Amino acid sequence: MGGKMFKKFRIVTSLSLLLLLCSITTSGFGQTGIQYLGPIIDMHLHAYTNEDFIGPAPNPTTGEMSVDNATEHRRQTVEVLKNNNIVLSMVDGESPEAVDAWEEILGDGVIRGLRFENPEEDLDLNLFTEWVEEGKIEVFGEVGATYAGFSSADSVLDPFLQISEEFNIAVGIHTGGSYPGIHRVNPDFRLRYGDPFLVEDILVTHPNLRVYLMHSGSHFYERTAMLMVQYPNLYSDIAILNWYTNAEVFLIQFLKLAKQYNVLDRVMFGTDQMIWPEAIEMAIAKVQSLDFLTLEEKAGIFYMNAARFLNLSDETIAEHHEQE
Ligand SMILES: [Zn+2]
Repeated sequence: MGGKMFKKFRIVTSLSLLLLLCSITTSGFGQTGIQYLGPIIDMHLHAYTNEDFIGPAPNPTTGEMSVDNATEHRRQTVEVLKNNNIVLSMVDGESPEAVDAWEEILGDGVIRGLRFENPEEDLDLNLFTEWVEEGKIEVFGEVGATYAGFSSADSVLDPFLQISEEFNIAVGIHTGGSYPGIHRVNPDFRLRYGDPFLVEDILVTHPNLRVYLMHSGSHFYERTAMLMVQYPNLYSDIAILNWYTNAEVFLIQFLKLAKQYNVLDRVMFGTDQMIWPEAIEMAIAKVQSLDFLTLEEKAGIFYMNAARFLNLSDETIAEHHEQE
C-alpha cells in the first residue's frame, strides 16, 4: 500500500513538472505542445481578383462573415502572413493577374500558382506555355479537376504535365473530398476523383515531375501515406485538415501514420485560407498544439520539408531564418 502511495506521489510530481514545462511552451490559448518559433512556408494559399472573388460567406468553422472583395482580402491576408513569420507562400490565382498584386507587395515571398477546375474550359496550352516561359507560373496548381468531374489521371492534363516537367514547374493536385453537399453547387464533383491512387500513373509517366498531394488526400489519407512510402519524391500538404470544421480527424490520423511510415519529412504546411485570412492562424495553432510531434518534426512541417521540395538554396534558407 505504502509503495503504491509513493508511486502515486511520484506520478503527481512528474505530472506537475510536465505541466510546468508545458506552461513554458504554450502560446497562451490553452494548447499543449512544443511551439515552433521559426519561419513558415505556406504551400496552399488562394488569390482572387475582384471579378472572381467568391465571397462574402461565413467562415465554415467560426461562422464569422468574410470580407466582400479581393482587395481587402489581400490586405488582411498579407498582414496575417507578416504577423506569423510566413516568409514564403504558394499563392494561386485563376489567372496570373490575380497573383501579380500579391507579388507587388510580397516580392520573393510569393511562389506563383495557377488554379483551375475544368481543364478543357479553363486551360489553353499555348497560353500556359507562354506563361511558363515568362515565369508567370511556378506551380501548376491547384489542379482542381475533381470539381469539374475529371480524374487527375485524365489524359487532357498530360500536355500540361509534360511542360511542367520540362520546365521544372512543381504540380499541386487537389486530393480527397470537399465540404459535405458540394454536389449541389458543383454537380460534376466526384469524391472518387480525389483518390490519390489516380495520381500514381502521373508519378510513373513523369518521373522528374515534382508533385505534391494537396490536403494529403483527406478522406483517403491512408492511400496518401502508402503512395509516399512507394514514391520517395512525392510530397503532400495538410491544408484544410488543420482548420476546417470536422477535418481534424484526418489531420491527426494522417500525421500519425506518416510518422509511423517514416514519410513525415515530406509533409508540408499549407492553409487553403480561401476567403478567410483568419484560417491561417487557426491552422498554425492547430499544428502547434499537436503534442505527438517533436519540435524537429514541427520545424520540418512548417518550413524544412517545403524548403527541400522547392530546392531553396542554403542562402535563401539562411535569409529566411534571419528575418525572425
Ligand atoms: Zn483543394
